Amino acid sequence: MNGITDGLKDIITKASLAARGSSLSRIRRRNLSEPAAKWVVQSRIGSEVGYALSIVLATSGCSHARSEKGGCTMCSYILDGAGQNVPTEDLIQQFQNALTSLKGLMAPISVKVYTSGSFLDPVEVPPEARAEILKAIDEDDRVRQVVLESRPEYMTDETASLVREILGDREIEIGMGLESADDGVRFLCINKGFSLSEFETALKTAASHGIGTRAYVLVKPPFLTERDALLDALQTIIAAAELGATTISVNPVNVQKHTLVQRMWSRGHYRPPWLWTVTEILKESRDQVASDVNVVCDPVAAGKPRGTHNCGKCDDAFVKAIRQFSLDQSTSHFEVLDCGCKSQWSHVLEHEDFAQLVHSLRFHIP
Ligand code: SF4
Ligand SMILES: [Zn+2]
Repeated sequence: MNGITDGLKDIITKASLAARGSSLSRIRRRNLSEPAAKWVVQSRIGSEVGYALSIVLATSGCSHARSEKGGCTMCSYILDGAGQNVPTEDLIQQFQNALTSLKGLMAPISVKVYTSGSFLDPVEVPPEARAEILKAIDEDDRVRQVVLESRPEYMTDETASLVREILGDREIEIGMGLESADDGVRFLCINKGFSLSEFETALKTAASHGIGTRAYVLVKPPFLTERDALLDALQTIIAAAELGATTISVNPVNVQKHTLVQRMWSRGHYRPPWLWTVTEILKESRDQVASDVNVVCDPVAAGKPRGTHNCGKCDDAFVKAIRQFSLDQSTSHFEVLDCGCKSQWSHVLEHEDFAQLVHSLRFHIP
């Protein structure tokens, strides 16, 4: 990595830390036996539609966000965590509490286990807690698919082997935030802290145990124009599928508290992506990616100023179309969308010019 790029990385790290401020020391105390969140929604599971239970365990939080690297420029999930190491028995209790939400539901069911960081990080979730949680999932025959979220550095051969051993022949995916296939965008705009080759190694390790990868793709990291963001996300989706990702989860940026993105947004230097951009990415990627790779999107804060939005009048229709597409993969839901704000979006695509930082450097990182 050259000196200029190292200097820019340093600036981004410092800016991320400054945006975080003292927020980590003010994480509210919580009941450690309750998960941070849980919800059930209809979801595409393989080629069927079933129910997905998402569980966010309250843990000590993401190691990257806790470190002197300051975490990613758009993420403050760590503030939803416990702010302290959580004992094994409490983590198991959190999971058992969340499992009660599956009462009365028919197969197929998908269970998605999130933390405010990485489920496979042994500091966040001790191996004994991890094993007990996976065993509890294995006891439920309705569960066809299990999604576990982690940074790539925790996807080791040994961990993958243990996960596979406990969950038998179920479909397993590891959700990993690739965000962008461009190392420059990932390092400088997102401060993600790992390279494409590290992501690829983790994907291959998982695949060698029959474990798929759900690649998270970020739409509109800071410092990119709307047009660059559209092209970057599209290229990332295609690259992730070519690397072997089994599902692509498209995530438009939402403005979270105590992040660099929020600092820029509150000063008028950042706008979350247009819903037009998101639907364009979904439409194009569905055409260009193999049909056995599902492309899904569940935008957070959609239609609100902090989330992906259009003019306000058409937002609900767009969000509904995105959710329908995520269930059945049909791009026909986008064909009926129209609104006067399309011309404004087109103008932005052609004329916005706000990405000098990245334009000049993004293609020069080794
Ligand atoms: S996006 Fe993931 S890796 Fe980045 S700070 Fe948030 S939890 Fe950590
Ligand atoms: Zn509109």
